[in-house]
Amino acid sequence: MPYVAGKGFTEVSRKYGLKPEEIVKLGSNENPYGPSPKVAEALQNISPERYPEPELLMAGLAGYTGFPEEMIVIGAGMDGVMDTLTRLFLEKGDRTFIPTPTFSYYEILTVLSGAKPVFSPRGKEFEVQTNIPADTKMAFLCSPNNPTGNVTDEEELRALLESTDAIVFLDEAYVEFAEHSLAMLVKEYDNLVVGRTLSKAFGLAGMRLGYALAPQWIADQYKRAAPPFFGISCASTAAGVAALSDIPFMHNSVEKIRMERQRMHKEIDSHPSQANFLYIETGIASNSFAEKFLSRGIIIRDCRSFRGAGEHHCRVTVGTPSENDRFLSAFREICS
Ligand code: PMP
Repeated sequence: MPYVAGKGFTEVSRKYGLKPEEIVKLGSNENPYGPSPKVAEALQNISPERYPEPELLMAGLAGYTGFPEEMIVIGAGMDGVMDTLTRLFLEKGDRTFIPTPTFSYYEILTVLSGAKPVFSPRGKEFEVQTNIPADTKMAFLCSPNNPTGNVTDEEELRALLESTDAIVFLDEAYVEFAEHSLAMLVKEYDNLVVGRTLSKAFGLAGMRLGYALAPQWIADQYKRAAPPFFGISCASTAAGVAALSDIPFMHNSVEKIRMERQRMHKEIDSHPSQANFLYIETGIASNSFAEKFLSRGIIIRDCRSFRGAGEHHCRVTVGTPSENDRFLSAFREICS
């Protein structure tokens, strides 16, 4: 099964004859405020003829996370980081543990490594079942979880880490929108890796820059398996360094998104969320529901491609107030 991404401006504009500026894109959990203005300035001064140098980026990530550089690894998006980790640790016949519904790339990477995914349906509140099978090689948790928006709590994660020797990958792509991170547990457990990205809160999805916080033994191994220059570019490096130098900008856009999340959640009665998106139960089939929005120029995500989400869920990204108003007025019209 290929990775299914949210629909893009070009595809929707061609299909529905809409101008790109008439389309509201709330299907890919991007940050509508983009990165700090310092990023545009930094991109003017790159040297594309040179290979990238990661040192300043590593220093920026160490400053932001409070982790020493020896415990940080980087890649072309968190996708790139996960790709290297699974190539490093998974072999034919291994098993991975994946609580569903969740981000589908964990399953894709498992299968590509010749390993077998073992799926564990989340509970009523989308909580993870903590009974990991004994022969698990890697477990993939996501907090806040894509697409459900709920977080894993500290006791749940500790119970899970203590019950297994598997490498537990905790995906914190959306953590800046949440109330807490569990990254500090990486310093306590030598089987925990926490994945992060600059695609979401930092507004750099197009730059493909991700990282992970890992015990030193894993960070050392990672460096042996990673592609040359870790898959980063001089543009993504410069953008990342500039974005990390302007934390107040990131906090400000996160705050605006959180306020809008609350407004939308109340109005549409979605599941509570600690991410920059909301998970909605649709009365009608989710593909027809999403299609009604698309025909009005609003892209939301039909969740049928998320294993275990069923046929009646959509996900909507929290956008700017005016984008959200467009979504909400269509929602009232469609659901009345
Ligand atoms: N993890 C989750 C849960 C995601 O939703 C995404 C982005 N869709 C990623 C990882 C990948 O992030 P990146 O852009 O850093 O590759």
